[in-house]
Amino acid sequence: MRKYEIVAPCHFGLEAVLKKEIIDLGYDILAVEDGRITFYGDEEAVCRANVFLRSAERILIKVGSFKATTFEELFEGTKELPWETYIPKDGKFWVAKAASVKSKLFSPSDIQSIMKKAMVEKLKQIYKVTWFEEEGESFPIRVFLMKDEVTVCLDTTGESLHKRGYRKLTAKAPIAENLAASLIMLTPWNKERILVDPFCGSGTFPIEAALMAANIAPGMNRSFTAENWSEIVGKKIWYDCMDEANDMVDMNIETDIQGYDIDPDMVAIARENAKLAGVEKLIHFQQRPLEKLSHPKKYGFIITNPPYGERLEEKENLPPLYRMIGERYRALDAWSMYLITAYEQAEMDIGLKATKNRKIYNGMMKTYFYQFLGPKPPRRA
Ligand code: SAH
Repeated sequence: MRKYEIVAPCHFGLEAVLKKEIIDLGYDILAVEDGRITFYGDEEAVCRANVFLRSAERILIKVGSFKATTFEELFEGTKELPWETYIPKDGKFWVAKAASVKSKLFSPSDIQSIMKKAMVEKLKQIYKVTWFEEEGESFPIRVFLMKDEVTVCLDTTGESLHKRGYRKLTAKAPIAENLAASLIMLTPWNKERILVDPFCGSGTFPIEAALMAANIAPGMNRSFTAENWSEIVGKKIWYDCMDEANDMVDMNIETDIQGYDIDPDMVAIARENAKLAGVEKLIHFQQRPLEKLSHPKKYGFIITNPPYGERLEEKENLPPLYRMIGERYRALDAWSMYLITAYEQAEMDIGLKATKNRKIYNGMMKTYFYQFLGPKPPRRA
């Protein structure tokens, strides 16, 4: 087993959630930066991080880092890295993504092509060939420059981790699965408690909650680029990881997780997605407008992503909609409410001051996660 520095990007503002998940999975944190956590781990950690982490965006192996302010330095720095330990002679390799912040070098396409040339140069010397067919497995590289420090990573994930494989059909503005999972993990909700999403759309919040309730690993029904890297991560390690994930699943539970939407097509889509995720038995979806939101029990959670008016004509509808959210929430007995929205007037229209409010970047869009914390249920005897 080799030790790697493993880099896991996540949504900006949710680093603490991912950090906790990594610690719970049993690994030591090396660094927490904006939108990314670095930790130590071996090949098994690479598999387990891909399969088990709910809030990560992808899992990268750090190949190395160096300073570069010129393309010359970028070329030389890249050439020095130990590429031969990762990329076999027939491997297919390219810089899939380059991102630059506060650095002299910033053009992604130039960074990508220069680094590729440097890798070819290095591997030519090592493998003593003049041309690479690149017909073997894929080794996508991701690089980020931060204040001229170049961090070079190998992507073990492929299609980003928020794609669990269950969401074949989506709403107009679906929330990313890993973002939904992170937000649920920020709340005190657990499978003993009620969860209602009154604007469930394609069902992301209820489905992510049900996956957690049943201990279903988010990566159980998809594949990863590194599954084919037999020289780095053997098949057996992947099989063991899948066995571990399978052993953990517990469908023998009772949940009260509900998703409502005004649009019957959305409700049908949400049901279909829940079926694909294998959790349809744990969720009750129903067509129901916000106006009819109610629940007979106490101490439940609303966790939701209400409309926030991307289009101008929708903006007019927001004040009455958010007033209705406030009204329906107040009618519930001792509930908590958590909502993520880009709508700036949310608290004002809801008519309640949030207990906490957290800024979260959903891609480039600034959103707020408003948290209205209700009372705790009394301890059971
Ligand atoms: N989080 C969801 C997307 C939510 S989009 C996902 O991941 O797919 C907001 C949803 O609110 C839309 O599906 C829309 O149909 C629904 N909606 C809008 N007004 C509503 C109302 N008054 N009552 C219930 N649902 C409503």
